[in-house]
Amino acid sequence: MVIGASVAGLCAARVLSDFYSKVTVFERDELPGAPATRATVPQDRHLHLLMARGAQELDSHFPGLLNDMVAAGVAMLENRPDCIYLGAAGHVLGTGHTLRKEFTAYVPSRPHLEWQLRRRVLDIDNVEIVRRRVTEPTFERTHQRVTGVLLDPAGPAEDAGADREDLADGEFVATDLVVDAAGRGTRLPVWLAQWGYQRPAEETVDIGISYATHQFRIPDGLIREKVVVAGASHDQSLGLGMLCYEDGTWVLTTFGVAHAKPPPTFDEMRALADKLLPARFTAALTQAEPLGETAFHAFPTCRWRRYDKVDRFPVGIIPLGDAVASFNPTFGQGMTMTVLQAGHLRRALESGAELASFLNHATAKTTYPVWMMNAIADISFHHAVAEHVPRWWRPAGSLFDQFLGAAETDPVLAEWFLRRFSLLDSLYMVPSAPIIGRAIGHNLRLWLRERRTRRQFATTQPSP
Ligand SMILES: Cc1cc2nc3c(=O)[nH]c(=O)nc-3n(C[C@H](O)[C@H](O)[C@H](O)COP(=O)(O)OP(=O)(O)OC[C@H]3O[C@@H](n4cnc5c(N)ncnc54)[C@H](O)[C@@H]3O)c2cc1C
Repeated sequence: MVIGASVAGLCAARVLSDFYSKVTVFERDELPGAPATRATVPQDRHLHLLMARGAQELDSHFPGLLNDMVAAGVAMLENRPDCIYLGAAGHVLGTGHTLRKEFTAYVPSRPHLEWQLRRRVLDIDNVEIVRRRVTEPTFERTHQRVTGVLLDPAGPAEDAGADREDLADGEFVATDLVVDAAGRGTRLPVWLAQWGYQRPAEETVDIGISYATHQFRIPDGLIREKVVVAGASHDQSLGLGMLCYEDGTWVLTTFGVAHAKPPPTFDEMRALADKLLPARFTAALTQAEPLGETAFHAFPTCRWRRYDKVDRFPVGIIPLGDAVASFNPTFGQGMTMTVLQAGHLRRALESGAELASFLNHATAKTTYPVWMMNAIADISFHHAVAEHVPRWWRPAGSLFDQFLGAAETDPVLAEWFLRRFSLLDSLYMVPSAPIIGRAIGHNLRLWLRERRTRRQFATTQPSP
């Protein structure tokens, strides 16, 4: 049984269907039959980057997904870094060259991606998605295990399966396993405490992000890129992103970190783009026709619940997706990190190991490098606040700033960053010694050239 039919819940259902005779996904929200935004996933109105690694992993769970998305109009960037404008921490990456090691990126809108996943899950014979809200899982103290869930009696009365009893405080549905894919608002830590378990320790980074998003239409060909990102930096707390959707419309998301407020109207968003992007984008945006209303979203805190560190965990329940870790959304990693967790779930079920322990530890291993690098970047560049800031984080952030400076004009470094940013080669954003040497050498040459130019300029100026 799965709580939640968003990205984590759908990936979980796909994996579980290979190991259990019947999988039921309970979702409280109405699920549209076509790509459309949903009430309980308000982030789907905002820019969602699908990292190249996430696309690869999703296709391994749902073979044919990427081809079908492309057939439906989703942009595919095959070894085309010139289709990506990437500004990170105040540096614009030199992406206007062919990559030495090719990779392909895909640019679906979030509603389209979720719909593609949902229709595939609905096609699996032993999976059903039922529109009901889960009130809470039921816990049996004698065997220290979760035995099922209680459904909200107020929900629609679809058949929720054979093994159910009507109880006064809700309908009970029995199950062997509950997957908590209810997102960052899950109550699992509270339930654990009620059942006599330790609540997981939480690592948090207070980032104070606000999003404001508007869709628009623009004449074809005015913007060459399909992905445009200008992240926030130490001196600029506002950033933006633009994506070209499968139906030819565009989304413009502006955001502020450290409680900076993004512009609330499309005209003001254009004015911000004017400030953050080269003039050719501004020129194109003057021809944009805004569609619909501005959507807003607040994301105060990145949160990692350390289920890997609890002493005991009940049998019969596991957490997955944002319920475990929700990352700074402006880095665009959440869906990819979620699908990596689904891979761990598959390996855990194949191994026959103790499920929660295997999964929680495997998830911690893939979460750690990404979480740590994000935290370093947020502390160094985004004025974020965390309870525990190791001394080496800020110097590491400064070194990385230098690295990104070199990657502006060195295509090898830009490619290294683009691949790591896409979570492809490794989840660790740690350059090897040759790459660090290259960055230092590159910066040194730039510095020497600049000094020479300054001297030449000084000698050609008439003395006062
Ligand atoms: C503003 C913003 C921008 C983002 N941008 C990106 C991006 O660019 N790239 C990226 O990869 N990721 C991004 N993310 C993260 C991404 O949205 C999530 O990582 C992804 O949706 C996986 O989340 P999830 O499935 O775990 O939870 P959610 O998407 O939050 O879904 C939880 C689901 O559970 C259901 N549910 C909850 N409680 C119950 C209950 N009791 N009973 C039944 N159903 C229930 C909800 O209705 C919902 O459908 C962004 C997030 C935010 C907030």
